[in-house]
Amino acid sequence: MRTKKILILSLAVSSCALLFCHALFAADKLNVVATTTTLANIASEVALDKIRVTSIASPKQNIHHYAPTPKDVLKVKRADVLIHEGLDLEAWREPLLAAAGNMRFLGEGKDSIDVSLGVPLLEIPTSLSRSEGDIHAFGNPHYIGDPENVKIIALNIAEGLAKVEPENADFFRSNATAFNEKLDAKIKDWEARMAGFQGAPVVTYHRSWSYFLKRFNLSVIGEVEPKPGIPPTAKHLAGLIQQIKDKKAKVIIKEPFEETRTPKKIADETGAQVVTLSQSVGEPKEAKDYISLMEQNISSLETALKQEGGK
Ligand SMILES: [Zn+2]
Repeated sequence: MRTKKILILSLAVSSCALLFCHALFAADKLNVVATTTTLANIASEVALDKIRVTSIASPKQNIHHYAPTPKDVLKVKRADVLIHEGLDLEAWREPLLAAAGNMRFLGEGKDSIDVSLGVPLLEIPTSLSRSEGDIHAFGNPHYIGDPENVKIIALNIAEGLAKVEPENADFFRSNATAFNEKLDAKIKDWEARMAGFQGAPVVTYHRSWSYFLKRFNLSVIGEVEPKPGIPPTAKHLAGLIQQIKDKKAKVIIKEPFEETRTPKKIADETGAQVVTLSQSVGEPKEAKDYISLMEQNISSLETALKQEGGK
């Protein structure tokens, strides 16, 4: 008898799952796909429990070179809203959208949110230099490194979600404002902590820290890559090493997925220190949201600059 009751209950639960609960659940929450973990985090700050959000690119890999999987195609196919960074950070974005065949996201698709709108871009090339391998053809796409830009991103996400779900527009907007206020307080703290290192010369591996370093008034004197995405030659490295010595740069910034051998070689020859910073929520795993990610970046940089005496 008991077995029969359990069987009936499981059948009822399964039917509910198949017929009703799924529909109710799906109707309840927007299914949002963000191209990166950092965008997914900002979206959840803006929409809280009104969305189910997943991300595509792994935080452990270079976003430029992520290779979408069939699972990613399915995610995009089933999504209600797509949030992406625009420009050419996600070089794989358009092919992925084409594979998913979700017309609402292609081109200026109405359910697709390009968070770069209104962000003041740096390093917009005067001529398109893709033939030389440069992967920042529309300007530097690593604007998420500046927390002031993240405030624009949060507002863009709120407006984009408000278009799709107008009944929650006020909710999205007020959450974005609250998040931005939280961010404002942190920016003040981070700026105060970096104030002692104004103009300190640093080197980065890829040109991915321009916005971050500009915000905190540090000076980039060169990159390990001669152009974004181009591996260094011996001649380029010799010139960079000389620059570091001449300008007394103390820090070489790399991201977790970039190879360590070259920065270490430069460090050995110059006495500069290699510091690993990240722009991806979840890498390292303690960086569970944008604020804790930036907090880690500022702390690591502060420690490195202090150790070397700073300025
Ligand atoms: Zn890049």
